[in-house]
Amino acid sequence: MKKLTAILFLTVVGLVVAQNNNGLPASAQQAMNSIDPEKIRATVKYLSDDSLQGRGTGQKGGDMAADWIAQQFKSYGLQPAGDNNSFFQNVKFYGIRTDQQKTQFVFVPKSGAPINLKFAQDYVATDETHSPQSQIDAPLVYVGYGINAPEYKWDDYKGADLKGKVLLMLVNEPPSDDPNFFKGKALTYYGRWTYKYEEAARRGAAGVILIHKTEMASYGWEVVRNSWGGESSFLQEEKEPKLKSAGWIQLEVARKLAQAAGMDLDTMMKDATSRNFKPVELPVRVKATIVSNVRTFSSRNVIGKVVGSDPKLRDQAVLYTAHYDHLGIHPDEPGDNIYNGAADNATGCGIVLELARAFAGAAQKPKRTVLLAAVTAEEQGLLGSKYLGQHPPIPARNISLDLNYDDVQPLGEPQQVVVSGAERTTTYPLVRKVAKDFELSIQPDDRPEAGHYYRSDHFSLARVGIPSFSVNEGALFKGHDLAWGENKEKDYVANRYHQPSDEYRPEMDFTGDATVARFGFALGWQAAEQPQLAGWQPGDEFEKARKNSQAKSGF
Ligand SMILES: [Zn+2]
Repeated sequence: MKKLTAILFLTVVGLVVAQNNNGLPASAQQAMNSIDPEKIRATVKYLSDDSLQGRGTGQKGGDMAADWIAQQFKSYGLQPAGDNNSFFQNVKFYGIRTDQQKTQFVFVPKSGAPINLKFAQDYVATDETHSPQSQIDAPLVYVGYGINAPEYKWDDYKGADLKGKVLLMLVNEPPSDDPNFFKGKALTYYGRWTYKYEEAARRGAAGVILIHKTEMASYGWEVVRNSWGGESSFLQEEKEPKLKSAGWIQLEVARKLAQAAGMDLDTMMKDATSRNFKPVELPVRVKATIVSNVRTFSSRNVIGKVVGSDPKLRDQAVLYTAHYDHLGIHPDEPGDNIYNGAADNATGCGIVLELARAFAGAAQKPKRTVLLAAVTAEEQGLLGSKYLGQHPPIPARNISLDLNYDDVQPLGEPQQVVVSGAERTTTYPLVRKVAKDFELSIQPDDRPEAGHYYRSDHFSLARVGIPSFSVNEGALFKGHDLAWGENKEKDYVANRYHQPSDEYRPEMDFTGDATVARFGFALGWQAAEQPQLAGWQPGDEFEKARKNSQAKSGF
């Protein structure tokens, strides 16, 4: 009897220990615990140093970052998963930089003086067609939100002929609290500027002018100006139609424009919130000459792998991603013009490198293969990840999950984790379990209207059907109240986000970066062990892409 009790006792202790191990075998637990915040610091310090010149896509600093990350992968013992048995996946781009001196942009109203716009101050524009010079002399048509969404019975275009015209439109989508209408407060892809440019180009428009309003765009004019002020990149292999002028104007300029057209901007904005809205041709022509410096170049995704232990399941994978690019140097700007991108996204790179080291160092490997990718050209519109999604080293249908890291603030020990979009996938019960194991609560998306889901690389992978989301910290940190974390976030957005001041500082605390790395390790490990590949919840916008990829034997 005593013996039996002892055995029972040992079994119970064994179970308890197993549970404390987050459901991971001892070797995985050990590997996970090796994730080191100071190593993340070292990566951030190195990648955001001035010598890496802001890691611009197609700039020297970006290439240096890619080389360095590949070296780290190699030193950790990862196997190459890029082209020709290398760590690199070559991606070909057009680089387009608008010549701010030679480019002209004028609104010519039927009556009254023409409005000459000043680049950067009043407007920004990129010629997506990659020709060195494009002329526009076209009517200006106001198309409200510029959205055609059959599933919400919304069509701003109403069949209007827009070939060769310039479309003036609002950023974002019709406001709503109804979850069944453009997902209520949450922003859908229809609200993103990328969708708006794509849709207008499909309709043969010559150009798009988005009206910038901080509350609607969820970021200030400086962000637009800085993002459009440098070089923009486009995938060479893309065959979709493109705009001669893809741009934005300041709210005040839009007001002046409306006035010159004998209209009122507030009324125009209000009209756009109705289903009955129809495109309005303004009594204004757009006369523009867009002069661009165009070059072709290559940039690289860096991809390594840790091959799975199960001979059958190793053809399937769990993927981790983080972009290594940032905005580079803006030579035209006075003062500090190096966009170091310490938080965005040297932090994500530091995390993925630690994940790489931990998986490679695990005595026993998970059943499925683990892919780790540092991708390029995120700041150019998620292009490196778009290319990766279309050319994955393992077919997309066989990739169970992508966990992405982007801009994980070095603020200390988080008590909340953000996994927005996870609830859309079948992995969610596991996500909740892992969060519980880590004593982290799941923070709901506090600003669903900002459409974060469509603003980082996991979206590129979701578009090809892979269940994907980003992992980040919430606003509640140990030793502080919620307001502290929220203020930190506000301060970052106002003073450092996409600015040269996003720099490494010694007081940065990478404890939380390590925590979300371990969280992702535990989650990814268990996803790599599950009998089934992950999928999307029924009816989700990406379910179709998943089914299509699984129906094909290609990608
Ligand atoms: Zn980023």
